[in-house]
Amino acid sequence: MEQFEALWLFQAEDMKADAIASAIKRSPTRQKLEKTRDLILERQKQYKQIESDTAAMVDRKDIITQALDHSQAQLTQLRERFEKDPPQTAENVRSMMAEVGKCRETIRQYELEINRIVKESAANDKLQRSVRLEAANAKKQFDQLKADYEEESKSKKTELDAQRAKAKELEDKVEPSLLEEYNTIKRRISPPVARLTHGQCSGCNTSLPSAILSRIKGGALVECETCGRMIIQ
Ligand SMILES: [Zn+2]
Repeated sequence: MEQFEALWLFQAEDMKADAIASAIKRSPTRQKLEKTRDLILERQKQYKQIESDTAAMVDRKDIITQALDHSQAQLTQLRERFEKDPPQTAENVRSMMAEVGKCRETIRQYELEINRIVKESAANDKLQRSVRLEAANAKKQFDQLKADYEEESKSKKTELDAQRAKAKELEDKVEPSLLEEYNTIKRRISPPVARLTHGQCSGCNTSLPSAILSRIKGGALVECETCGRMIIQ
């Protein structure tokens, strides 16, 4: 019976230590830190994407500019031919005019495309600047949060070490086989020990049959059939 009391006292301090450990893991600062890190990675990815889009636009603009130069040279040639060797028949005039018209239309299309690329590039530059700014701000925030978290976990870690030491003192008073049982149950459910309250397991509030009750009262090691906790009087 005394052994169960020692275990009960140890459990109280052990649970306090576990609560500190889980508070360290669930720290809002740490969660914010992780969110900010994800945001930075996201912005870096976005920045690279914009960079490669811009490079593709520059390439496309170069190609179209070359094609435009070619079409303009073609148009000049057509004009020269027209002046040097004017068409003699109405049909020749029509065919030459059609060629000129086609050439002009091609030039117009190329110019439209170049204008579109220029506009898109400008929009891309603007977006890239804002993404870079956002990433830089997030980095500043990240550094601050990291410092805060380190400070916070340092004091929490001290608190945890002190609590673990306190629990350890009580743990040393518990019989090894009972402690082993405690740790085995704890892997499944925590806290692993429950009191018997009004004929019920206080861990899951299940009423216990009288045979079990008398075994508990007799000082036997009994596990609740419902929740698996060790039930002590
Ligand atoms: Zn139970």
